[in-house]
Amino acid sequence: MNKCSFCGRREDQVELLIYGAEGFICDECIEQANAIIKESKTNKSKDLMLKDLPKPKEIKEYLDRYVIGQDSAKIALSVAVYNHYKRLNHQADADEVELEKSNIVMVGSTGTGKTLLARTIAKMLLVPFAIVDATVLTEAGYVGEDVESLLVRLLQAAGGDVRLAERGIVFIDEIDKIARKSDNPSITRDVSGEGVQQGLLKLLEGSVVNVPPQGGRKHPEQQFIQVDTKNILFICGGAFDGIEKRIAQRLNTHVVGFDASRNVAKLDKSNMMQYIAPMDLKSFGLIPEIIGRLPILTHLEPLDRQALRSIMTEPKNSIVKQYVKMFEIDGVKLKFEDDVLDYVVDKAVEFGLGARGLRSLIETIMMEAMFEVPSTGVKTYKVTLEYAQRRVENTNIAVLKESTEDR
Ligand code: ADP
Repeated sequence: MNKCSFCGRREDQVELLIYGAEGFICDECIEQANAIIKESKTNKSKDLMLKDLPKPKEIKEYLDRYVIGQDSAKIALSVAVYNHYKRLNHQADADEVELEKSNIVMVGSTGTGKTLLARTIAKMLLVPFAIVDATVLTEAGYVGEDVESLLVRLLQAAGGDVRLAERGIVFIDEIDKIARKSDNPSITRDVSGEGVQQGLLKLLEGSVVNVPPQGGRKHPEQQFIQVDTKNILFICGGAFDGIEKRIAQRLNTHVVGFDASRNVAKLDKSNMMQYIAPMDLKSFGLIPEIIGRLPILTHLEPLDRQALRSIMTEPKNSIVKQYVKMFEIDGVKLKFEDDVLDYVVDKAVEFGLGARGLRSLIETIMMEAMFEVPSTGVKTYKVTLEYAQRRVENTNIAVLKESTEDR
């Protein structure tokens, strides 16, 4: 009778025997082998050898390939990730000096690249990474998701390996959406504001949290998984709409006296975000304890015309490069007249579409060509200004705006 070539058990002693070219393997040996593979993978990724780790400068250079500008946010992010690796390593040494983690908060208007930064850095990280949205969170017991659900995504990214997840990084998008709605905390119950912040505080501080492995409360019978958040790095991002006004107010009220006029004159009014300070987050409605747990505060710059222009052509997977590639597959050499790109920037600014609008505009311009060109057999195709203008003028801008907002 056939026997497992690994454990020697006969076919009738096992559930399943799988036949190979040279031998056999039983179901139990497969499971064991699987466990060994998993363990070895886990150990490999746990050994973050410092000399092999990308240095902050290398991390930033990588980000530069995909994201235009935003140097302060890139530097803060690169340092935070590098320090995160260092901290994970350091603990293995059981040294006395405990390195505390430095969670980050990135503030920048919508469409300036916060999510893009998070997605880009995710591609080069050596630890599990999850992007989650704070808008779905509500206080426990209310419709919506509990704060613990943030960790479900991280667990999934870690392939269910709790120890790996406990070394991961979570990007919490739209953190501003859980700001307290009013300065008076006790008017009404604020189920998606302060209560959520209190819940989040637990995670940021580092505690052992019960995580429902499948998320949500639809499976009340499921066993909780305990996740220690002590070493999980949290990066938060938010637009904090209108925070510039608060920054301006603070600066105006603080700079009084003889030197005041000089200081005020030096302020760059077109980019108030650069002066952001923790107290602005507080006046926006984040509780001080949360702010205290997000010691690194960085900002994203508003995108000027030049930045918008660069976004179309320079990033490794810029929209123009993507279209050129798409045509290349059909054997067509695609070229955009420079005027076209300037025109697209003009329109994006005119309609207040921001960087997201660039893609919508180019898609609008290219639709007809995408439809016609593959059947014509031409070898080159040039997008002219006149063609672009005609396409955009024939489009309902309201629709364009909507499609931009959906992204
Ligand atoms: P946010 O999260 O800040 O609202 P996103 O990161 O989602 O904005 O940006 C929306 C889109 O705009 C991105 O997918 C990207 O195509 C483009 N974009 C925005 N900012 C930049 C930037 N600094 N560099 C390159 N592309 C950018």
